[in-house]
Amino acid sequence: MNNPSQKWQSAPSLGRRAFFQAALWTTVAGVGSAVQGSSPRQKRDQQSYRESLETPIVARHQVVVAGGGPSGVIAALAAARSGADTLLLERYAFLGGNGTAGLMTCYNGFRNQRPPEALQTVKGIPAEYIAELVRLGGVADTSNYEMTLPHDVRKGDLPYAVPFDAEVAKIASLNLIKKEGVKLRLYSWVVAPMLDGSRVTGVIVHSKSGRQAIIADVVIDCTGDGDVAAAAGAPFMSPAATGDRMAMTLMYRLGGLPSSVKGPFDGVRIGDQVVRWGPAVPGDGLNVETLTKAEVTSRLEVWDEVQEVRRKPGMESLYLAQTATGIGVRETRRIIGEYVVTEHDATAGKRFPDVIAISSNPMPDFRGARYFFRHEGFDIPYRSLVPQKVEGLILSGRCISCEQAPFQSARSMAPAMAIGHASGCAAALAATQRVPPRELDVKALQKLLVSQKAELRF
Ligand SMILES: Cc1cc2nc3c(=O)[nH]c(=O)nc-3n(C[C@H](O)[C@H](O)[C@H](O)COP(=O)(O)OP(=O)(O)OC[C@H]3O[C@@H](n4cnc5c(N)ncnc54)[C@H](O)[C@@H]3O)c2cc1C
Repeated sequence: MNNPSQKWQSAPSLGRRAFFQAALWTTVAGVGSAVQGSSPRQKRDQQSYRESLETPIVARHQVVVAGGGPSGVIAALAAARSGADTLLLERYAFLGGNGTAGLMTCYNGFRNQRPPEALQTVKGIPAEYIAELVRLGGVADTSNYEMTLPHDVRKGDLPYAVPFDAEVAKIASLNLIKKEGVKLRLYSWVVAPMLDGSRVTGVIVHSKSGRQAIIADVVIDCTGDGDVAAAAGAPFMSPAATGDRMAMTLMYRLGGLPSSVKGPFDGVRIGDQVVRWGPAVPGDGLNVETLTKAEVTSRLEVWDEVQEVRRKPGMESLYLAQTATGIGVRETRRIIGEYVVTEHDATAGKRFPDVIAISSNPMPDFRGARYFFRHEGFDIPYRSLVPQKVEGLILSGRCISCEQAPFQSARSMAPAMAIGHASGCAAALAATQRVPPRELDVKALQKLLVSQKAELRF
């Protein structure tokens, strides 16, 4: 796979892309200059710095999955199982995305939270992943998510919510990735797509090894934020600057719960520990300055909050055991695809002939209210995974093509995994049959998904 002698000349063909410009034209006033002969004063005042890049091509794969969260892990497993040579790329040192890095330790949306909830809408490879979690003893005791009817996760009958231990989730992902033969590169930020016109031909990653190019027949964008799609020039929707988006939250884990405290204690309970929500912080999760401020504010507030609880009689044994790797960002880009799933589609429980997953999670909105469906879930059509204007790329997880309301449902981790299952199968079919994702035979995709036990209500 490795061919370090080849180089990818990224600068000329990518120059028109907004994201790529951001990567190339950094504001580094006073550091160097591309302008020959400019004076020291001109150098200090310059607004951009032109980098000249030549990037070694280090690998080629049929399918490259960018981002190892709930959606990316399942997508990679599905692509590999469906016969594609698959590479999974993740910026952190472990897998699991917001479930582990964000410490959001409750997989929601395997079925409706309230009746009608007879149908388990997320099955297939996501259910295999939960089975591995169960096998490793990683399913937690209780969570504060209400559930109406009993289901036994240990018997594969998955309830609305599956609370879990984040450390075990990291191991469960690795076990399955190894078993399925998925190749893995951790510590690897995907910083730009490789493009041939409007076709994504691979990705540029940045790590401690420097910038490297990885060629792919098909790339799946599982970055949550739609980093690859946006950088490749796909149009996207983003929450309005007026603040109509859900806030960011730093999750944290309390240790030393006294045995007298029963129940979930406002969080996800594992023995004498509980994972809880920190303060809500508004703002744009794609802006590094906002993220830095949000991180500082919420870490200090979480510390104070914990000291406050410790001062209560009988609670002296409590301590701050862990904070999330980074603040949890709920909402950023939704890439515009061949179809945009609407709020009406979700509330009406619309069925699509090109269904590839079902979302039954209720729709929490940015004001905190929760809308419960009166049906078993709405269909996610394959067209919402295919970005407009860009070829060779499939969307997955929370960046798929939805209005804000259905997004709030489908971004939960169980539907995100089901979407990952579909994107992985689609990418494998496209890569092995040498068909552009936009022209994929959806019936063949559905057949493959059903053969891997996905629920499509056929
Ligand atoms: C505070 C909070 C509370 C939530 N509560 C719940 C809940 O109770 N239950 C529930 O089911 N869902 C909950 N969610 C939603 C859910 O966690 C996310 O929507 C879900 O994880 C999305 O899955 P994903 O795989 O699309 O993205 P993510 O989980 O965000 O995974 C994306 C992965 O890609 C990696 N990545 C990102 N960019 C790059 C890049 N450029 N290069 C390489 N790697 C990259 C990230 O490190 C990450 O591993 C919550 C979210 C938040 C923020």
